Amino acid sequence: MVNVTKEQKGNVLFVRIVGSIEESVNFDQLIGTPTAEMNIVCKEIPRINSVGVKTWIKYFQQAQQKGSQLTFSECSTAIVEQINLISNFTCGGVVESIFVPFSCTTCKSELAGLFKTEDLKKLQLKIPELKCTKCGGKAVFDDIPEEYFGFLAR
Ligand SMILES: [Zn+2]
Repeated sequence: MVNVTKEQKGNVLFVRIVGSIEESVNFDQLIGTPTAEMNIVCKEIPRINSVGVKTWIKYFQQAQQKGSQLTFSECSTAIVEQINLISNFTCGGVVESIFVPFSCTTCKSELAGLFKTEDLKKLQLKIPELKCTKCGGKAVFDDIPEEYFGFLAR
């Protein structure tokens, strides 16, 4: 089950998508007619399968063709994976911020830190350490920088 919450703030329609994106998802029904400026909040999308990807691209491509300005924010790691794999996944849109996976060197917990893509570009793949929310230990970036941040170099 996917839930969509829409909120208009000024000129921008914020579209929060919650749930895994699979066969049954119908964005035409869930989001409706695309507006001029849309910000897609992707924080709560734990996974997207190949059919989901097709549905996604079909909807946002059609939005782009109608002149919508698309921004994708708070992208979950599942969404970042697709952005890296599929060059037109964002359909001409801007990726504003993404979640970055970390793991604690002390208690081995996995956590995610939110970063603006603008700031990530400035860091040049040198990701700072985070403080573990569970034990206060040192959490370090837990993926391959060249892969996880591959899309930044496009
Ligand atoms: Zn910890």
